[in-house]
Amino acid sequence: MRTSQFPLSTVKETPADAEIASHKLMIRAGLIRKIAAGIYTWLPLGLRVLRKVEQITREEMNKAGALEVLMPALQPAELWQETGRWEKYGPELARMQDRHARDFCLGPTHEEIITDLARNELKSYKQLPITYFQIQTKFRDEIRPRFGVMRSREFVMKDAYSFHLDQESLQETYDLMYQAYSNIFNRFGLKFRAVIADSGSIGGAVSHEFHVLADSGEDAIAFSNASDYAANVEKAEALMPLGQRPEPTQDMSLIDTPNQHSIEEVSQFFSVDAASCLKTLIVKAEDNTLVALLLRGDHELNPIKAEKIAGVLSPLQFASDEEIIVACGCKPGSIGPIGLKMPIIADRSSTLMADFICGANQDGKHYSGTNWLRDLPLPEQIADLRMVIEGDPSPDGNGQITIARGIEVGHIFQLGNKYSEAMNAAIINEAGKNQIMLMGCYGIGISRIVAAAIEQGHDERGIIWPNELAPFQVAICPMNMHKSHRLADTVEKIYGELSDAGIDVLLDDRKVRAGFMFSDMELIGIPHRIVLGDRGLDTDTVEYQGRTDKESQEVAFADIVSFIK
Ligand code: ATP
Ligand code: MG
Ligand code: MG
Ligand code: MG
Repeated sequence: MRTSQFPLSTVKETPADAEIASHKLMIRAGLIRKIAAGIYTWLPLGLRVLRKVEQITREEMNKAGALEVLMPALQPAELWQETGRWEKYGPELARMQDRHARDFCLGPTHEEIITDLARNELKSYKQLPITYFQIQTKFRDEIRPRFGVMRSREFVMKDAYSFHLDQESLQETYDLMYQAYSNIFNRFGLKFRAVIADSGSIGGAVSHEFHVLADSGEDAIAFSNASDYAANVEKAEALMPLGQRPEPTQDMSLIDTPNQHSIEEVSQFFSVDAASCLKTLIVKAEDNTLVALLLRGDHELNPIKAEKIAGVLSPLQFASDEEIIVACGCKPGSIGPIGLKMPIIADRSSTLMADFICGANQDGKHYSGTNWLRDLPLPEQIADLRMVIEGDPSPDGNGQITIARGIEVGHIFQLGNKYSEAMNAAIINEAGKNQIMLMGCYGIGISRIVAAAIEQGHDERGIIWPNELAPFQVAICPMNMHKSHRLADTVEKIYGELSDAGIDVLLDDRKVRAGFMFSDMELIGIPHRIVLGDRGLDTDTVEYQGRTDKESQEVAFADIVSFIK
């Protein structure tokens, strides 16, 4: 490709809504353009990367024996009603009606469609196991689309679905997919981890997420320092019994001060380390309703969690900040926080991290120690607000937790019979009887991976693509080619040789200054740069510089293809 035929759409400005590096760089490098909130056009340069992500994924799916299909994005409500998800899925489902007022949705995922296909196409156990996959556009009306294509409302996903006679076969395909996913992310050249996950609205029992590790990731991942344990923090929290938390140190009934205290004062009072692990209870008693927050100091608030916390706090309509009562301590055996006067240490603007435990205290009963928390009914929507932090015991009992941030780029599930039973997807088994199939499903966020790769690979000058995903592997930047026939001929020759070797080359044939070419090529993240000038013609060399190299080096014409390969 030549820049004369493949115009670069680099821009200086970053949009005001771009909070993270990948979003800014995807706009600046001219990979995407925004159409509406969470809806983007892929420009030619961005599409080249997206297609490479797709292609590697497709190759590995084929290798794993999955069969490619293409299902409709537009899905009839009837199928979703069969599984009950038409009601359950909520406002993220993009619903619409056709001209006859029949209900449809734009597919956020395809369990219903594939299960319908399977129940019609698969008749005999001899056809099992079978895995279908597709690479297709999904629609989710995200409450807060953000970070460009990272969390958009229309995005490309690879989704695969497998069908089985028994659990053993499901486990086998699940393991095969786990391996295929590891191969895919290794080929992308990204640092990733597979972690135990919650299966969320898709359902099922066993599931793993694949995360690209990056500080800007929306998910927190809990690792044990003494075992292979790695889980999405949400999952680790769900598994963490409250009783495992270290007990607070002081009896809260000792405190009787109406004053505002800083978290530091309170931590001194209770001789606990505010920064690492301050276990504090916020209690709000109002009309027999009890809200308790377990606070741990100095923790950055994850936006999703903050939203949930705010969502639970706001309907309580605190008349003033003073009404949020904070109790520290709650030593086992001491009187619980109800009805006691406690110091106020937090207001609503506090940046303290909070763990939520909430329940109705209908009988006014006195609870003691932290155990009373366990007895409280946890409203479903906030039960997952428990928090695992650095230093907590690992849920597998081995070692302590450290936490890193990750971007969820893949998710595999053992669905079991959740969809097949609801939709009566059965085959004839060996005994000649009807048998409901078991299912697995396997997703990869194709478009999110482009952004995740940039989160992991960038510097102040722009994107640093891994070789496999780069829109072009090599940029040729000739110096004053338009003034020298001799140079132009050599440039064409090298361009031809690299292209013939199967390398994607971008030849910058614009009449622009060298500095201008370089900054464009660095911004769009081309891994290898070759500079050709009249001087090199005399020595038969080019000036080569890798995207992350500090300095350039001379490479002989004759060696350039093998040097880059
Ligand atoms: P998230 O937790 O980020 O909302 P999810 O768990 O809802 O993702 P899945 O249903 O597991 O997503 O879908 C499979 C994959 O699709 C995810 O692992 C992710 O990579 C990708 N994905 C999901 N939602 C989006 C989105 N709004 N924009 C881009 N990619 C997405
Ligand atoms: Mg989601
Ligand atoms: Mg998720
Ligand atoms: Mg998921």
